Amino acid sequence: MNRPIYLDYHATTPTDPRVVEAMLPFFTEHFGNPASRNHAFGWRAAEAVERAREQVARLIGAHHREITFTGGATESNNTIIRGVARAARDRGSHVVTVSTEHPSVLETCLALREEGLTVTVLPVEPDGLLDLDRLEAALAPGTILVSVMAANNEIGVLQPLAAIAAIARRAGALVHTDASQAVGKVPFDVAAAGVDLASFTAHKMCGPKGVGAMYVRRRSLRLPPLVHGGGQERGLRSGTLNVPAIVGFGAAAEIARHEVEDEGRRVGAMRDALLEDLRERVPGLRVNGSLSARLPHNLNVSFPGVEGESLAMACDDIAVSAGAACGTATATPSRILTAIGVEPDLALASLRFGLGRWTTADEVAYAAAKVASIVSRLRQQYLEVRP
Ligand SMILES: *Cc1c(COP(=O)(O)O)cnc(C)c1O
Repeated sequence: MNRPIYLDYHATTPTDPRVVEAMLPFFTEHFGNPASRNHAFGWRAAEAVERAREQVARLIGAHHREITFTGGATESNNTIIRGVARAARDRGSHVVTVSTEHPSVLETCLALREEGLTVTVLPVEPDGLLDLDRLEAALAPGTILVSVMAANNEIGVLQPLAAIAAIARRAGALVHTDASQAVGKVPFDVAAAGVDLASFTAHKMCGPKGVGAMYVRRRSLRLPPLVHGGGQERGLRSGTLNVPAIVGFGAAAEIARHEVEDEGRRVGAMRDALLEDLRERVPGLRVNGSLSARLPHNLNVSFPGVEGESLAMACDDIAVSAGAACGTATATPSRILTAIGVEPDLALASLRFGLGRWTTADEVAYAAAKVASIVSRLRQQYLEVRP
C-alpha cells in the first residue's frame, strides 16, 4: 500500500494512464493548430478535437454541436451565468441559485448584483437538498435562470434535478447545472436532467486539468462569449484549442461511458464499508448530508468531542479534506456544512472522504482504523483539558 493514501477524489483525480496514452501524440507528432485550415497538421488536430467533442457529447446524451470546450468548469460557469444575464436582459434580471453551490457559481451570481442582477440564494434542508416548494415560491415572472448543482463537492448530495428543472421551466426560466462532480461519477443525461445548460470538467473524471466543457441546448438561447478573439468554438470561446487536453477529455469521457456503472457499484461498496467501519469504532459519529441521494464516492462525517485542527493535522498519511484548514490563524468552518446546520465546532471536526477509480479496500480499511484511533486519542486529550 502506497502512503499517503489518496482519498480526495473531489478535489481532483489522477489522470487515467489510458488517457495519457491518447494525449501523447498530440504534443509532438500531431501538434497542429485546429484553426490551420490549409494543411494536414491542422486537419489532423481538428479531426481529433471533433472526435473528442463526440465522445464528450455522447457521455451526457448531447449533440456534438451542443458542446463547447473551455478551460474548466470555473470558466464554463462564468460564461454561462454572465452570458444568460446579458442575453436575457430583455426578459428579466432575476437569478435563483442555492447556498451550497461552488464559488464559481455563487461568486459569479453575486458579482453580477453590481450590474443590476437580482439574486436569490436559496437555503437547503438539513439533508443538503433543495426544497421544491421553496424553489417554486422563489420564482417570479422576471426569473431568467435557475442554477443548481447536480452533485455537491463536499457532501456529495445529488439534487433532484429533473423536478427542479420542471418547476423552473414552467416559470419560463432557463436551467443550468454545475455537473462537475456528477459527470463521469454517476450516469448523467442532459435530457433526463431537463437542463438547458451544464458545466463540467475533465480533471474530476480522471482526465487532465485545465479543460472543461459547456453544454448549451440547441434552441435554448444564443449565448454571448466571455472570451473574444479569433472566433474558435463557433465564436463562443476564442483562443487556440488545447488539443492534447481535449483529446484526453474525450478519452476520459469514453472510458467513463463504459465504466461509470460498474465503478459506481465498486466504489459505493467501499464507501459503505468505510462508514460501517467508522460507525463501529467511533461512537457518536455524524454523517453530513443525505445518505440515499448521494454520490457513491463520497462520505462526509463529523466527530463530536474532537478539536478540528488537531484532527486535520493528525491525518498525516491520509489525503482527505478537512472541515478546518490548518495554518490559518482562525479556522473557518466549511460553508457547506454551515448551510446544512452543522454547528461551527462540529463542522471544524469533520472529514470529507472522496473515493475513486484506484481506491482499494485495503486503503479504506487502513483509513478507517487510522481515523478511529486519532479520534479516540483526541477525545481523551479533549477530556483532559476540559474536565
Ligand atoms: C472542481 C469543481 C469546479 C471547478 O472546476 P475547475 O475545472 O477546477 O475550474 C466547479 N464546480 C464544482 C462542483 C467542482 O467540484
